[in-house]
Amino acid sequence: MLIERGAPGFDDLLRRLIWNVRSPERRSPDAVVLPVSTEEVAAAIRDAARRGQRVALRGSGHNYQGAALRDEGLLVDIGALDRVEIDAVSRRARVGAGVKGGRLIRQLAGHGLAFPIGHCADVALSGYVLAGGIGWNYGEWGPACANVTAIEMVTAAGEIVVATADEFADLFWAARGAGCAFFAAVTGYELVLHELPAAAFVVDTAFDAGSAPHIAEWLDTAGAAADSTVELICLIGPDVHTGRPAITVRAVASAGSVEGARKKLAPMLSSPPGATLLRPAELKALPFADLPGFSSLPGGKRVAADQVWSDHPIGDLLRATAHLAEGPQRSSAISLTALGGRATTPGMPGGIDGALSVGGTASAGIYALWDGAEDDRRHVEWVAAADAALAPFRSGRYVGEADVFVAPDRLAQCFTPHALGRLRELRARYDPDGVFLNCLPAGG
Ligand SMILES: Cc1cc2nc3c(=O)[nH]c(=O)nc-3n(C[C@H](O)[C@H](O)[C@H](O)COP(=O)(O)OP(=O)(O)OC[C@H]3O[C@@H](n4cnc5c(N)ncnc54)[C@H](O)[C@@H]3O)c2cc1C
Repeated sequence: MLIERGAPGFDDLLRRLIWNVRSPERRSPDAVVLPVSTEEVAAAIRDAARRGQRVALRGSGHNYQGAALRDEGLLVDIGALDRVEIDAVSRRARVGAGVKGGRLIRQLAGHGLAFPIGHCADVALSGYVLAGGIGWNYGEWGPACANVTAIEMVTAAGEIVVATADEFADLFWAARGAGCAFFAAVTGYELVLHELPAAAFVVDTAFDAGSAPHIAEWLDTAGAAADSTVELICLIGPDVHTGRPAITVRAVASAGSVEGARKKLAPMLSSPPGATLLRPAELKALPFADLPGFSSLPGGKRVAADQVWSDHPIGDLLRATAHLAEGPQRSSAISLTALGGRATTPGMPGGIDGALSVGGTASAGIYALWDGAEDDRRHVEWVAAADAALAPFRSGRYVGEADVFVAPDRLAQCFTPHALGRLRELRARYDPDGVFLNCLPAGG
């Protein structure tokens, strides 16, 4: 189905397709097409190319900057391509790119299997795996893109190809981490599955922001000692319950049993000496497959976000950003995650041979969510202030979350110079006429 700009319901459709409500206010494609099969995606791309119309892709519209929306062209929505076929014996699944992580993990759990989906249930594999995919149990399973063996896609010429490490190996390389710099339409993934950790255990403790130096010291020790299945997160921003400036320490462990997971978090149950509690530790046991529901962010909001990788301990990142804990609003936070000793850089543990070529042992995501347009400036400035405070510690950025549109050099920070050069060469080869609108600068 093709819906053109100006048709009844077109603006509502854009608002439904894009998570950040600011984006459709600023940009609009000429038309949206809603294919239901790979063949229909290919036909839509061929028709657009014939008309000289450029093409943008949408999986679930969860890019924080609304990257799928451009001010021109045809938006091809991959969202309806969401089939799931599970082969429990070979531990492989074939999925449509539009499948959402929450649905996938529930279906896999029925077979005692799992995949490193993203932290929120509504994010589709589409753009998430394409960007790299830093999801649950990262310390054990690594990035999602390291857990795919084949990627079905439609090229700018409208051809359907399946890229693997042996066939179309250069497209397979690029699709593992290029994110919005990719130059084909991904329609499906073949996934490597893992044994489902039956249980997860979460400890959530909020401290007064003034305790930051004590917490930072404690985090340096706890982070270094944590098991690879423990995700250690430090949230800097107003406490969700009281609104007071807070540092919230969240530790998540997964294991075969609740007791096993709880045991791994024993060191996180003691408070940092000298720190002032805002709320005592909340302990929660839940099935692993329920984790995405546990940490979901609210939809229907105005959003500004950014992200940096770092090789510094998260205690250092906390010291650098604690002064921003007052935050512009309760739903805004700087989220520091110790990545269980894994780094995404090739040659390092967890590194892959793909476009996901920079990384770090920690990730700092900066998320501001709010309601009224009158508050835009305050929130955007807070995100920029956090990004500036983290700059001395930065080893790169993650193309899946960083604001690559804010400045021309941003995209280059998401890749090594070699990987960026290779992406440019491959785009010139596979999409010489620039059919796909992507975030690689035009002509680059
Ligand atoms: C609430 C929330 C939670 C998140 N949690 C995580 C997380 O835990 N880990 C993580 O790594 N990231 C996370 N992200 C970031 C998210 O993974 C990326 O923004 C990703 O792009 C979302 O995928 P999407 O399909 O919705 O992308 P969309 O917003 O639909 O598209 C963004 C861009 O990706 C490209 N793209 C998307 N689909 C395709 C396709 N099929 N073929 C070719 N190009 C395509 C296009 O360039 C498009 O412009 C989260 C985002 C949100 C909003």
